[in-house]
Formats: sequence, structure tokens, C-alpha cells
Amino acid sequence: MTDTFQHKGLRKKLVETIREKGIKDSRILDAIGTIPRHAFMDSSFIQFSYKDQAFPIGAGQTISQPYTVAFQTELLEVKPRQRVLEIGTGSGYQTAVLLELGASVFTIERQRPLFIKSQAILRELGYKPHFFYGDGFQGKESYGPFDRILVTAGAENIPDPLLKQLKPGGILVVPVGGENGQVMIRIIRNGEDDFDKTEHGYFAFVPLLKGTQD
Ligand code: SAH
Repeated sequence: MTDTFQHKGLRKKLVETIREKGIKDSRILDAIGTIPRHAFMDSSFIQFSYKDQAFPIGAGQTISQPYTVAFQTELLEVKPRQRVLEIGTGSGYQTAVLLELGASVFTIERQRPLFIKSQAILRELGYKPHFFYGDGFQGKESYGPFDRILVTAGAENIPDPLLKQLKPGGILVVPVGGENGQVMIRIIRNGEDDFDKTEHGYFAFVPLLKGTQD
């Protein structure tokens, strides 16, 4: 992977675009300014790496729009050393953002080719999340509970196991809806059965699907 002055320049512009769209957390803006998004792109779209758009990454999936990645991350309020569960590794780009914030990341992907590819890329760049191949609907109970849980695919409803695996005081961010779009939902767990739910605008994600795919 080469990271040229041109890449760095394009990243600076991308950071400005995202800042103008309303992202304020400087740690997140720094992460976007640091991570070589071109390393996570499908080769057919490499010239568009620093456009603020989602692009296909194979297997019918997409690398999320950088603004969306930043927006979800901002809602998650990640602090260093927190345990963060990510559902939908995809390209691994969002995983890298969470790691740049100093989190301990547990990431699950249900499509084997993406699971294998994103592992190789993240490792090459020196990022060290815990990788799992499986169905994120179930969360990862044996590694929980988690301070933060992030779902990066559109869920028809909020998976119960994820609520159960959230620590008291923990935050879950999940886009909820069908194929015509989703509402970004943030859940804060106040106590055992006490959850606060707020809505944060409309987005378009690929669907959260059950089971795994080889
Ligand atoms: N954050 C990723 C988003 C990828 S798209 C990125 O920016 O690249 C969403 C990903 O969620 C896809 O890779 C899809 O295969 C995965 N996914 C969908 N349902 C899932 C499930 N039940 N468990 C784990 N991963 C899932």
C-alpha cells in the first residue's frame, strides 16, 4: 500500500467536507484524515476513494460513506479502551476509525470473502481488532458485555441479544428500517430494563441479514 502526497491532500479535503456537513469531534476528523481509505476500496473504484460516497466492495456490499461513518461514530461517543462491538466489518474502514479512537474492537462479518479480505487489509495497516465470522444478530456474548455496539447494516428491528450485551451506561447505534431507508437510532442503557431511545435522521444501508454466507 502506498500513501502519496496526493492521497494526503485528498484526505484533507474530505475532512473539510465532513466538517462542513456537521461533524465536530476532532478525534473522528483526525481519524478520517489519517486512515488511507484507498486501501479499503475495490480496485475498480480506487480513483474515487476520497469522495464522500459509498462504493461497492464486492459480494453485493458497500464501503459506507465517510460522512455516515463519522456520524455513527460521533453518536457512539467512543472513549479510549472501551470495548466496542461492530456488526458488519465490510471493508474494515469503520473498524479502523474505531481503533484510531483507542477502542478495543470486536468486529463480526457474515460474508466469508469480506471477512478474509478486511482482515488482510487491517493487518497490513497494523490495526488489530478481534475478528469474527458469524451472524451479528447474536452479538458476541462470550466477549461481552460491551461499552458500545455499532451496527453498520440496516436492521428491520433492534436485535434483542445486542441490547442484552450492552453494559449499563452503554450506547448502541443502529440504523432501523427496511430497503427504502433507515432511521438512525441511538439507545442508551440506563439500567437493567431501562433504555433511552432517540432518532437521528434518515440513511440508506445494505440490509442486516441472518445467517452466514460462504
Ligand atoms: N462499516 C462497513 C459497512 C459495510 S456494509 C464499511 O464501511 O465497509 C455492511 C456489512 O454488514 C456488509 O459487509 C454485510 O455483509 C454485513 N452484514 C450484514 N448482516 C450481517 C450480520 N447479520 N452479521 C454480520 N455482518 C452482517
